[in-house]
Amino acid sequence: MQKLSPYVPGKPVDELARELKLDPAGIVKLASNENPLGPSPKALAAIQAELSELTRYPDGNGFVLKQRLAQRYSVGVHQVTLGNGSNDILELVARAYLAPGLNAVFSEHAFAVYPIATQAVGAEGRAVAAKNWGHDLDAMADAIDENTRVVFVANPNNPTGTWFDAAALGTFLARVPAHVLVVLDEAYIEYAEGQELPDGLAYLADYPNLLVSRTFSKAYGLAALRVGYAISSPVIADVLNRVRQPFNVNSLALAAACAALDDVDYLAASRRVNDAGMAQLERGFRQLGLEWIPSRGNFIAVDFARDAAPINQALLREGVIVRPVAGYGMPTFLRVSIGTERENARFLDVLTQVLQQ
Ligand SMILES: *Cc1c(COP(=O)(O)O)cnc(C)c1O
Repeated sequence: MQKLSPYVPGKPVDELARELKLDPAGIVKLASNENPLGPSPKALAAIQAELSELTRYPDGNGFVLKQRLAQRYSVGVHQVTLGNGSNDILELVARAYLAPGLNAVFSEHAFAVYPIATQAVGAEGRAVAAKNWGHDLDAMADAIDENTRVVFVANPNNPTGTWFDAAALGTFLARVPAHVLVVLDEAYIEYAEGQELPDGLAYLADYPNLLVSRTFSKAYGLAALRVGYAISSPVIADVLNRVRQPFNVNSLALAAACAALDDVDYLAASRRVNDAGMAQLERGFRQLGLEWIPSRGNFIAVDFARDAAPINQALLREGVIVRPVAGYGMPTFLRVSIGTERENARFLDVLTQVLQQ
């Protein structure tokens, strides 16, 4: 476990405020791909209504939320697994399918939890070199051997924002042997709908070794509550259900997720704000002569063509928190989550000053 490097989260606002004696109200955090709109009012009302029940254990089966998800996506209830964030889903997969002597394949510059969850159960992580910052799905299929049990793919990927289309996914799934579970991580899919990305759920019927994981943390704006889910074959769902904690999703999270799922206006607004914010940041970067990786998520990786750490430090001193991604093999980049128009403008102003220093 000594070799396991811990997940490095975005710096919390209060931590920076304490460290630099700044007013937390003046700090802009664009570091953790959180929804800048704040939670859906419908989710907040559902939480309020649930508070008086806090003395009870939550429904360990998450019956209502699973029903809603099954209805929404036209799948069976027994295909749904709930997680304490989709992070939990990734860990359940590792615990159920990986062990010493076995391996998991994932891409370079992919989500840090894939190697962490893999190493935590003593399995080998195989990071496959990226192509143009994105997944090289052919090379990933080539990296699979008889000891591979899991392949993690993210579409779009974090922290690069890169994506692959339906043809690429279809070719990849056809190449992966049946003994290998494909975890298709769609944490940002709600932002990308209709933008040439495949809907992973459409492949479940043909590929019983596919699991699609999604979350309420990003477009649904409920990161603090920790609720995510997987949709897979009933066989895989049954296996994950056996290794999960009995009450892995709390009652406030269950209630809020149901309400959020119904709040189509909130989701539409989230997408609108994200599209406008992405365009705003791209314009800003262009004016500053910076390059970036085109993204389909709610974040964008911008390249400074030199060590980005001092730029990050200078931004922090001005109360702007973004995410360094040196730990992802991208030392010249910073990843910036899309904020509100005001937050994006503040970030671009401060960045402009920092780059002139
Ligand atoms: C944010 C993120 C997740 C999981 O977030 P949870 O809050 O645990 O649901 C999973 N995968 C990727 C690629 C992410 O960026």
